Amino acid sequence: MPNYYLPIIGEATVFPVNKIICIGRNYADHAREMGHDPDREPPFFFFKPQSALTQNNSDFIYPPYSQQVEYEIEVVIAIGKSGYQIPLEQAGDYVCGFAIGLDMTCRDIQKQAKQQGRPWELAKGFDGSAPCTAIQRGTLNDLQQFGDLVLTNNGKEVQRGNWRTMVWSVPELIVEVSRYIKLEEGNLIFTGTPAGVGPVKVGDTLCGVLEGFTQELNICVAKSSGI
Ligand code: MN
Repeated sequence: MPNYYLPIIGEATVFPVNKIICIGRNYADHAREMGHDPDREPPFFFFKPQSALTQNNSDFIYPPYSQQVEYEIEVVIAIGKSGYQIPLEQAGDYVCGFAIGLDMTCRDIQKQAKQQGRPWELAKGFDGSAPCTAIQRGTLNDLQQFGDLVLTNNGKEVQRGNWRTMVWSVPELIVEVSRYIKLEEGNLIFTGTPAGVGPVKVGDTLCGVLEGFTQELNICVAKSSGI
């Protein structure tokens, strides 16, 4: 068994996770809520390490150095084969499945990093910062069966969006990312979050739903034990 993996729904095998690629500002309404103009600033991407993975139905450990940890619910694409500088018409060949993920973010640390021109790892790439469901196998066409992406916190709806409104579509994301880095089997692409991001506190229960997807993402926010 690899150290970092996600289960595959209905299969005994697992999806070995080797890199998490996250897209920023891929929904116009979220770009605006963060103070950016989506017509002038295109999406971009950054990475989380494997150690960011948190399995479904487990605890997210609140990083003790932050005072403002926020949720970002996202559709996740699983990449099934290697490719570099992939043309748009072939992009769909690289999709092997889907999941629901949370790009957990220390917003206070991210704001400091932006002001100081420093990298985002402590804000975005900390241990456990990428809770994710199991992978549901599927091709690019299977995206069509999915409807709204919804996040509730303690039963109250806090985010809702639809993958059809992404600034960069899934094939465009594959083209853009593979312009710079080789995509490989085991990559996950977190495709960006819609509007409504907000803070969590210890004891909160987050539930992510993607209409048409067979699993819910259920995560409890827990205090660090310090070990
Ligand atoms: Mn995000």
